[in-house]
Amino acid sequence: MGKVYLTGAGPGDIELLTLKALRVIKEADVVIYDRLANPDILKEAKSGCEFVYVGKEDGRHIMPQDDINEVIYQNSLKYENVVRLKGGDPFVFGRGGEEALYLHERGIRFEVIPGITSSISAPAYAGIPVTHRGVAVSFRVVTGHESPHKKESQIPWETFKTDDTIVFLMGLHNLPKISRKLIQIGKSEDYPCAVISKGTTKDQIVVVGTLKDIVEKTKDLPTPALIVVGKVVELRKQLDWFEGNV
Ligand code: SAH
Repeated sequence: MGKVYLTGAGPGDIELLTLKALRVIKEADVVIYDRLANPDILKEAKSGCEFVYVGKEDGRHIMPQDDINEVIYQNSLKYENVVRLKGGDPFVFGRGGEEALYLHERGIRFEVIPGITSSISAPAYAGIPVTHRGVAVSFRVVTGHESPHKKESQIPWETFKTDDTIVFLMGLHNLPKISRKLIQIGKSEDYPCAVISKGTTKDQIVVVGTLKDIVEKTKDLPTPALIVVGKVVELRKQLDWFEGNV
């Protein structure tokens, strides 16, 4: 029986992989990976390593989570070192907890290797410090994905009133609803926000706007993308180091 490493791949830039993640990837007999994990990471695996793609996209799963759990489990019966490679951090909207529980229930040993989550690193590469002193005392990371069939929103919109920085993952398709709701609970129409597409990669695109105009400005932006809402967005004017606009 093998051991499963639930491993964070980081947000995109391959150099944001941790040393620990790199070590287990080099030792892996099989790597089970997502669409969000940078595929260049797979080149680090030893020759003969098997690769299994269980891609999923923005909450629309190509392979259902139950099947992914089973694939991981089956591989742990077959191989000694199983790496489950997931974009960003495995426990930040990565469903790593479900995979860990599935393995735990079957007596399979596992380790969790945290990764750099896109929720802070994409803003960092966009020149947005999520808790800039004097501007934000907190940041909240929220799912922006809700089934359009759901009658009642699970997102506690009212509680965002006093939030300084809010980061929405999986939210691009719901941006019209997100901006509308935030205005409804009392944020001004001029409240700053940004959408970051393909953050930390050479294809990164950052669009800055307000709750009023962000939807119009971000039509057709490629995914993965996240939304940052808050005054910290304004710091990008001075701190945009990555795209070289400072
Ligand atoms: N576990 C991941 C998040 C998985 S949810 C993490 O910690 O980063 C998938 C969502 O993450 C996407 O819909 C998008 O909102 C966000 N995301 C992941 N990688 C991203 C990137 N490079 N740039 C912008 N957003 C990204």
